[in-house]
Amino acid sequence: MSKILITGATGQLGGIIIEHLLKTVAASDLAVLVRDESKATDLKQKGLSIKIGDYHNNDALIAAMQGIDKVLLISSSDFNGRFQQHKNVIDAASAAGVKHIFYTGVSMRDVKISPIRPLLEDHFMTEDYIKEKGLTYTFLQNSLYFEVIPMFAGEHVLEMGLVFPAGAGKVSFASRNDLGEAIAKILGSEGHENKTYTLSSKNAYSFSDIASNLSTLTGNNIVYTDMEAQAFETMLSSLGLPPAIVSMSALFAAAIKHQDFEDCDSTLESILGRPQMDLNAFLKSNYNL
Ligand code: NAP
Repeated sequence: MSKILITGATGQLGGIIIEHLLKTVAASDLAVLVRDESKATDLKQKGLSIKIGDYHNNDALIAAMQGIDKVLLISSSDFNGRFQQHKNVIDAASAAGVKHIFYTGVSMRDVKISPIRPLLEDHFMTEDYIKEKGLTYTFLQNSLYFEVIPMFAGEHVLEMGLVFPAGAGKVSFASRNDLGEAIAKILGSEGHENKTYTLSSKNAYSFSDIASNLSTLTGNNIVYTDMEAQAFETMLSSLGLPPAIVSMSALFAAAIKHQDFEDCDSTLESILGRPQMDLNAFLKSNYNL
């Protein structure tokens, strides 16, 4: 059986992938790369091999990759020099003789003409770099998670309404859990060499749809307001949000308005072999409705 190393294993997506992977793959065939050992005690107890390393530490990365056949590189949550972090992991994998890299990127229309290019182009640069290194690849292009809706909508959405400058743009959201389960199925099986999977949804939802579903679920009239982008940024700043978060929210709103996340796809559901979570189910569960 091949040995699989999973990075980002202490994160939310990584945790879900490992939970599902353990249904078909022996813990002794799994290793995880973590930068803080104390976050991996449960994984250690389950019998996974724990490798300590940071995406910035080349020597630790090379040591972690020894004897590994497949690496799942979960994209870094640290946007500072993110492409270099990914490059370090890919270089280490290549140096250690790893044959196959799986990478969690993003599913979207042409990033090169998107307002969010400054933030997300590194996903596609990472994919290109994996190909350039001559490694076998499997690209897992994830849609936006349903779980980002509460971040964009803010904590007072049920009382104050939904303010977000995304216009009529739609998103083919999927739940983090569905994405993690599908990725585990792909990672734990054979026949995925040099393939790119679009993991999104058969349905796309606008922020007006989100407000309307919340209205039905709560029985209150929750209104969607497509605020002007600059006014939105000023509002977030005045609420004390850090500049990086303000800018990230504004970029996502602009890209959604630009219809960059609208494309629908049934691949995720086919891989799951069951219906994926829909908007209503997510809103009910997230807002306890
Ligand atoms: P998450 O919970 O924030 O997990 C991120 C993981 O990356 C954590 O395990 C973190 O380690 C690890 N990490 C960050 N910087 C690292 C470094 N320098 N070296 C080694 N490991 C590092 O994110 P998630 O929800 O699992 O999502 C996975 C990835 O998808 C994110 O990292 C981000 O790139 C992307 N994402 C996508 C969406 C979407 O809507 N599609 C939304 C959010 C994020 P620690 O536990 O030590 O911090």
